[in-house]
Amino acid sequence: MSRPNRFEGKTAFITGAANGIGRATAIAFAAEGARVAILDRDAQALSETAEMVKSAVGEVLAIPCDVSQPVAVEAAVAKTVATFGSLDYAFNNAGIENKAAPLHEIELEEWDRILNVNLRGTFICMKYELAHMVKQGRGVVVNTSSGAGIRGVEGGASYTASKHAIGGMTKSAALDYAKQNIRVNAVLPGNIATAMMDRFTAGDVQKAINLEPVGRLGQPEEIAEAVLWMCSDLGGFVTGSEIVVDGGWSL
Ligand code: NAD
Repeated sequence: MSRPNRFEGKTAFITGAANGIGRATAIAFAAEGARVAILDRDAQALSETAEMVKSAVGEVLAIPCDVSQPVAVEAAVAKTVATFGSLDYAFNNAGIENKAAPLHEIELEEWDRILNVNLRGTFICMKYELAHMVKQGRGVVVNTSSGAGIRGVEGGASYTASKHAIGGMTKSAALDYAKQNIRVNAVLPGNIATAMMDRFTAGDVQKAINLEPVGRLGQPEEIAEAVLWMCSDLGGFVTGSEIVVDGGWSL
């Protein structure tokens, strides 16, 4: 259900917005009145998201950016504030999937590749977003973890480590800013129908459907809905939480 004016006058900053969950969340924020700053390292697909946001009657600022690059992220936060006047909601969603392998076969380069984007990239984004939110005196951060942030996954030690760590970082930051009108939460998707899922299952999506107790994949829009709720005043007493939206996968 779309509420056209819920986020009027507010700015949402969304990473990994060229595809999947980030794109759906950018469109959902715009449909409810927010101005959106969208970041991704895939500039071409990002401009397609920007067009979709505009057709949802939203103001959009597209910033090609790799979240593992601190100078670029700091500049993206500054550009968002300079353009829209605030940064009210940050959705740190950019992430990458691992190549499945038992732990002893994971190359150090592969470990670093996953942690660099999923964990270090999320930390870098939070660092610069929160510095602004402290000055602004308000804000909400939502980080994308995963059902794999609270359970193990065979062949997924690097990815699960990165997502479990996002949970700890989220809870600690929630405490750091609890008295400053800033809330910090995480969303934990299950198996969602995105390009990442297609790559991860090598096209055999039925494998992932079979893992889902509800017998279907989730849709990116179902994750967006939870993110918007956490950002809205309806989620005003929620901080340091890991909201699971996974069809029962992590049970
Ligand atoms: P996706 O691959 O469709 O989209 C991810 C986007 O992040 C892409 O546009 C990609 O270009 C971008 N990205 C990757 N690395 C980046 C970087 N260093 N800097 C900037 N942008 C970068 O994937 P998705 O399924 O929409 O996943 C979004 C998030 O949800 C990820 O954090 C993922 O780990 C998480 N997640 C996905 C699922 C799922 O089933 N799809 C399940 C649980 C968690």
